[in-house]
Amino acid sequence: MRAYASDSLVLLRLPTGSDLLEGLTRAAADLGIRAASVTVIGAVSSLAYGYYDQAAHEYHTLRHDGEMEISAAMGNVSLKAGEPFVHLHIVASGTDGSSVGGHLMPGTVVFVAEAAFHVLRGETPVREPDETTGLDLWPTG
Ligand code: ZN
Repeated sequence: MRAYASDSLVLLRLPTGSDLLEGLTRAAADLGIRAASVTVIGAVSSLAYGYYDQAAHEYHTLRHDGEMEISAAMGNVSLKAGEPFVHLHIVASGTDGSSVGGHLMPGTVVFVAEAAFHVLRGETPVREPDETTGLDLWPTG
């Protein structure tokens, strides 16, 4: 994978046909990125996104098959179980201009994805189980 990097910024494009979440995670691992903010623009040929059911403590996946623009996607990279973990939220617009959005799920197929990792050089946040939310989150204290 070709990447364009400075001390704190890495730009790269994911291959057409790849899985968006898997590709970002692999890129972070390959480039040694342990903590970063990340943004993505481009387009997908299908979208898998979802939401977290706060009462049931589980994710639900929604799908949109067909081309969509990535209008905005932002998230972060931190460590979970010792490995880079990408958490990304996405807003995508269809051919009629209407948008959907939520938590990016596995199964989103890249048409074009230009990603920017803004790398954190300080202490790496590590995700830990949080009993209140049922999620793996950064410690607050
Ligand atoms: Zn989320």
